[in-house]
Amino acid sequence: MQAMILERTCSLMDEDEPLRLVDVPTPEPGAGEVMIEVSVCGVCHTELDEIEGRTPPPRFPVIPGHQIVGRVVALGNQVQNLSLGDRVGVGWIHHSSGLKDENISSEFVATGRDVDGGYAEFMCVAERYAFPIPEIFTDAQAAPLLCAGAIGYRALKLTGLNDGDRLGLMGFGGSAHLVLQLTRYLFPQSSIYVFARNEETRKFASKMGADWVGESKAPDLLHAIIDTTPAWTPVVQAMGNLKPGGRLVINAIRKEDDDKQALLKLSYSDHLWMEKEIKSVANISGEDIREFLAIAASVPIFAEIETYPLAAANRALVDLKRGSVRGAKVLVVRGSLQ
Ligand SMILES: [Zn+2]
Repeated sequence: MQAMILERTCSLMDEDEPLRLVDVPTPEPGAGEVMIEVSVCGVCHTELDEIEGRTPPPRFPVIPGHQIVGRVVALGNQVQNLSLGDRVGVGWIHHSSGLKDENISSEFVATGRDVDGGYAEFMCVAERYAFPIPEIFTDAQAAPLLCAGAIGYRALKLTGLNDGDRLGLMGFGGSAHLVLQLTRYLFPQSSIYVFARNEETRKFASKMGADWVGESKAPDLLHAIIDTTPAWTPVVQAMGNLKPGGRLVINAIRKEDDDKQALLKLSYSDHLWMEKEIKSVANISGEDIREFLAIAASVPIFAEIETYPLAAANRALVDLKRGSVRGAKVLVVRGSLQ
């Protein structure tokens, strides 16, 4: 089968082609696993962290990609609930303990980092981590829901927001534009404040229905903020925008070090005192994905997507690293480009 493989870590500021298109043996499903013919695979910011070594794969080569949508084309032994032809999705959780806290378990194995993912024509996963995709979504529409959407859902749960509370979103890319739609549905009385450095991104947030858009300082203090940026400056800015008792949830697998000195501006009295909290989101559980897909279908949530052919995965990654982000990028593997 054809696959885009990562063979070493490198900086995407000076490397344009971190992945290589190759022919590799088609994987076979083990016991309890299904083989999926990949139609599309979303491109996630975490791929940048894998490639640039902030969360490096434990072995090379590896096939990245953890927002996979496709059809079941082979069944391993002991598969009970899925059938040939079922349309399913796979997210960042490839397998784990199966317990409620499986997202932070030492048994957590990440799709596309610890084992091969979806930048390929086929991939295998345990059936309990292959989630049926609601009919309302096309393959490409469903892909960003599996990570950007589902982890955004976990982040929103962790804010502890109540209906009517003011929510801030630091950064407005693949995840935040889905969280905005989700928040509107779950907390219809809440106002949403979007912080973004880039003018085009702020326009996009306005178009998506944000109540306020700006760069760093909101006109009101907020109950909770979700930070989806890779930087530290927004963390300090967010703490300054929280009301007493407010909580910042950082939705990122890794932060980059470029502006780490911004943390020296963190003032205990202005940013932390008055029982303000910082919480991170770690990975995702199978239950998060299952719950979120059902909610996403009833909203319904629609991702703004930009598609690339599989062979152009490097271009998608470099665009994500260097360009302004508008919505979510999706690789079309065996589906049709539309
Ligand atoms: Zn992801």
